Amino acid sequence: MPLCSNVFTSPERCRVNILICRMKELLDDARKDNRAVGAFSVANMEMIMGVVKAAETLNTPVVIQVAEARLRHSPLAYIGPMMVGAAKQAAVDVCVHLDHGMTMTTLKEAKELGFTSIMFDGSAFSLEENVAKTKEVVAFARMHDLTAEAELGVVGGKEGGSVEHRAKFTEPAEAEFFVNETGIDALAVAIGNAHGHYSGEPQLDFEVLRDISQRVGTPLVLHGGSGISPAEFRKCIDLGIRKINIGTANFDAFVDAAEKYLELVPRPDYFSLNERLVHAVYEETKKCIEIFNNKEASL
Ligand SMILES: [Zn+2]
Repeated sequence: MPLCSNVFTSPERCRVNILICRMKELLDDARKDNRAVGAFSVANMEMIMGVVKAAETLNTPVVIQVAEARLRHSPLAYIGPMMVGAAKQAAVDVCVHLDHGMTMTTLKEAKELGFTSIMFDGSAFSLEENVAKTKEVVAFARMHDLTAEAELGVVGGKEGGSVEHRAKFTEPAEAEFFVNETGIDALAVAIGNAHGHYSGEPQLDFEVLRDISQRVGTPLVLHGGSGISPAEFRKCIDLGIRKINIGTANFDAFVDAAEKYLELVPRPDYFSLNERLVHAVYEETKKCIEIFNNKEASL
């Protein structure tokens, strides 16, 4: 019998999924309904709890993910089992994904921990090198029944707190070649999106996205979702974006909630703080999922 003692899991809803869902299936389902799956970066237990609770409340599958560059703050051996554990106990499908993988060693470690989806980010390499390395990752993914995401073009900003990247838009003809050559399951595109905080209003190039979408049948992924407006998200979804990554918005919500709590409460205690942090991530995630579900009612 699974232990169901946490505040978000009532005994009657208690279940332990033996298998974690695969991202490919979530993205295929999203395509059928013309919506996108939210993929939320998590760095600690409170963030995992907030995201999963939001997904359960809205009965919508989500992806929880951690980027390789973030592992110095959230070691994979610690955060990985927590993510997998949460996915197994969730009342909705939760996929566990390694974001912006840079080395085969880390991708293999994620697989060993039970992640069902991996991203290899070869966007810093030449097209030929990116193709060659991504092919290796896809072969590994096929062997272990994992979903493989890759990136072409360079998403601007700082991914996972790493160095600032100068954006390079995905070239539609290259995207077609890349997908055909590598056989990846999901393609992260650069269309003016950026990691972290946007310095001004995001300027997404929907024509580039439309062109990529017409050439490529593979589900497309939008990184750098924090700061993009609901209307722009909807347009991206209509043009084939099936996974939207949210990191910064949840990290900001987390820190703001901590700041407010510590400012307002004369004798702060960890457990009250914990609840506020979970709640802040829950609210922010819920807002995103409602937009990504792309239903008229939430306009
Ligand atoms: Zn990213």
